[in-house]
Amino acid sequence: MIAAKSYLGKKVAVMGLARSGQSAAEALKAGGAEVVAWDDDVQKCRETELLGINISDLTKEDFTNIDALILSPGIPHSFPKPHVVAKKAKKANTPIIGDIEIFVKNFAEPRIIGITGTNGKSTTTALVGHILRSAGLPVEIGGNIGLPVLGFKNTLDDGYQVLELSSYQLELTPSLCCEIAVILNISPDHLDRHGGMDGYKAAKLKIIESLPENAIAIIGVDDHESNGIAKSLEENEYKNLRVTPISGLVAPEKGVGVLDGNIVSNINRENEVVISLHDNAILPGVHNWQNVAAGTAIASTLGIPNNIIKNSIASFPGLPHRQELVGTFNRLTFINDSKATNADATARALSCYESIYWILGGQSKEGGIASLSTFFPKIRHAFLIGECSEEFADVLKGGVKFTNCGTIQNAIETIKNNIPSIYNDKVAILLSPAAASFDQFESYEARGDIFRLLIEEQILSNPDLRGCLS
Ligand code: ADP
Repeated sequence: MIAAKSYLGKKVAVMGLARSGQSAAEALKAGGAEVVAWDDDVQKCRETELLGINISDLTKEDFTNIDALILSPGIPHSFPKPHVVAKKAKKANTPIIGDIEIFVKNFAEPRIIGITGTNGKSTTTALVGHILRSAGLPVEIGGNIGLPVLGFKNTLDDGYQVLELSSYQLELTPSLCCEIAVILNISPDHLDRHGGMDGYKAAKLKIIESLPENAIAIIGVDDHESNGIAKSLEENEYKNLRVTPISGLVAPEKGVGVLDGNIVSNINRENEVVISLHDNAILPGVHNWQNVAAGTAIASTLGIPNNIIKNSIASFPGLPHRQELVGTFNRLTFINDSKATNADATARALSCYESIYWILGGQSKEGGIASLSTFFPKIRHAFLIGECSEEFADVLKGGVKFTNCGTIQNAIETIKNNIPSIYNDKVAILLSPAAASFDQFESYEARGDIFRLLIEEQILSNPDLRGCLS
């Protein structure tokens, strides 16, 4: 844990005591600050008190005596309406910051590789960490993924910090100073928290504003918004940045992208082949190829040789719940994409497979699954679970054969009973719910964990089914 000395002798308030809030409170206390902390959840307050932190109801606190409010990124400070504690801090002119701001202030010269975007942040951050580690560079990975940054070891003076940065975190980190910044893509998301698309884009742009002159900005060019940002940075010669375009569709000049099924880099030479994408089952689909392009661009920029980049992409194990390959049974593949809680994310997965047994449903999101109808011809059978089964069934009716299973357990039981009739076909058995999990599970992780467990127990290691292979 880092002893954060930037508030030595000062009084700070920490609001929101999930992992990053707790670690901020501990790091600030260890660095000599007087810390008061609060969460609306009594249990979280209790846990934090056990760490030796003072708990005090911040809704009643006098903020004129407080030097900073460290606010959890999940708590609104502006839109749709500020939390009462944020409101009090603003009224008293107390700066509102996040844990990454404290982290940045605590290092003389952090070497931050910052990664943002609407989608693909976690995958790209984990991949970059994996490539840098494989190349023997000291590296910490964190931010919106894994460890909260103040939980990093304090000994990284010669290493890199690869940080996944959400739009909320970017807003709370005014002193951010990235050495390399990545914007993967931008599409409308969390607009209620940013007061609209302009606010959301402005938050994402903070990662670029954090760069020094002549630094490297790696920007996705496959969507309208981020492509526009890349163009305008170049046209305006903003900070004289080296803008490196990345794509999962084409091979952009001076950038990294895809040509003839290979990731190719145009950074050092023209169309240098880095890795073939044909057989990469861990990172399938154009969206993941964009993430690979981003990872390659960062690694090349740092001078990592192509053979190391290639081998480390090939050995990247992927992240759980994101088109995670659970296993194979003869020609069947079992894929856990529980993280796909909306139709857009599910579309990414459906585009990757040709013949699909699709488990879907849960708590539906606005728009439902109507936008997925172009993929319906690929769906061999759909297995509906969760509270939106009826709503989703109405959309599938006529176009797709489906069974109302109610629960994931029933869905897998039904699929298991079908295996003897399909095991020789190339079918992807895909959990990609296009819905939130909260009607039946604590989280999308819990839903994916159960899927994985049931597939392993009931199908992959089921001796009765193995019989059909002999
Ligand atoms: P994030 O951390 O930004 O939520 P993840 O890496 O966890 O992103 O991926 C979440 C989902 O987003 C994936 O399951 C996939 O559906 C989709 N996705 C991943 N990478 C991309 C990308 N580059 N472009 C668009 N969608 C993506």
